[in-house]
Amino acid sequence: MKDIKLNQFTEKKLKQIFNKKQLRVLNSFSRQDKMSVIRKGKKYISFSCNDYLGLSQDKHIIAESVKALKKYGVGAGGSRLITGNHPLYEELENLLAFMKKTESACVFGSGFLANIGVIPAIMSKKDLIVMDQLSHASSFIGAKISQAKIINYLHNDMSDLERILYNNRKKFSNVLVLSEGVFSMDGDLAPLDKISYLAKKYKSWTMIDDAHGFGVLGNGFGSAANYKNELNIDIHMGTLSKAIGAYGGFICGEKKLVELIINRARSQIYTTGLPPSVIASAIASLKRIINDEKLTVKPLNNAKYFCELLNLPVPQSAIVPIILKDEEKVSKIANELESNGLLVGAIRPPTVPFGTSRLRVTFSSTHNFYQIEKLARVIKNSINVL
Ligand code: PMP
Repeated sequence: MKDIKLNQFTEKKLKQIFNKKQLRVLNSFSRQDKMSVIRKGKKYISFSCNDYLGLSQDKHIIAESVKALKKYGVGAGGSRLITGNHPLYEELENLLAFMKKTESACVFGSGFLANIGVIPAIMSKKDLIVMDQLSHASSFIGAKISQAKIINYLHNDMSDLERILYNNRKKFSNVLVLSEGVFSMDGDLAPLDKISYLAKKYKSWTMIDDAHGFGVLGNGFGSAANYKNELNIDIHMGTLSKAIGAYGGFICGEKKLVELIINRARSQIYTTGLPPSVIASAIASLKRIINDEKLTVKPLNNAKYFCELLNLPVPQSAIVPIILKDEEKVSKIANELESNGLLVGAIRPPTVPFGTSRLRVTFSSTHNFYQIEKLARVIKNSINVL
């Protein structure tokens, strides 16, 4: 019988992480205005924020949230199935279903909770999940919890997806094809029409995690709204924590799917409902997005301007990766940017595969040309110097 103290165990684990150069620490940030953040008393322009439309700092949305806070209090006080299902949920879910053109919607505590709840609610041991190799950790965890067989297809490679479906479809009861709309670390889009087509051909279901497309692409309605033809997407998943600027996650789909989730998704059943003030802010944001088409195109336009300045390929979303491969190089450039008052994500393993370390630049509607030009200039100079 081993008698290892927890303290010894954690120390050993941390040492391993340190030796792999993967040890991370939390930094404190506070927002000052729409795109500036304060860290240790210093102001930075953030290019590493998912608040694509600056709505988390919007005065009207804050006012709506405060109104609900004063009227309904701080917390929900219970899970949705008990007493935490505030009437504001219905308004929010109706708006989401309207935007995704589905019968119904279901809001979760976060996007992470949505993914780890919905996948095990519909998939089990005799089933197969075929998912893009670059899918988000929450989708992988959801797939794992479901106990279904998981096969990854090469990123956005439709012939690999078809090969897997062709070789395996008959061996399983139900099959789910899972992809992101916009890939979070690469900013590229999934070919939703082809995924839809293949899923239909092989009698499979489809789920699209559009955490980074919702609010930004398709006039804010998401990646799928970019397609004129009917897509065959069974489950639209998204978050209220990025472009929506609030907190929470959701899925949209048929009424019966939502009914099943309410009865079977454990990350929905056994957790407290969202604070009413958070729901109120999400409602206010969605109404803004629906009514202000000009706002939602700005992040992508800003990304395009930046890519023009650096001769990078035309971006497909508000996320622009600059893959420098080497971890140290990425850290050095991120530090150089910081000393110039610019914050950019330095993304390294294990978040991305070895040899693909990158600067991950995210653009918001609130960035101005001057800030984008400064960013491009400092990146260009730093890359030339290294
Ligand atoms: N899916 C993707 C693709 C994401 O990038 C994220 C957040 N990083 C999530 C799901 C989880 O969403 P949330 O932050 O609302 O938990």
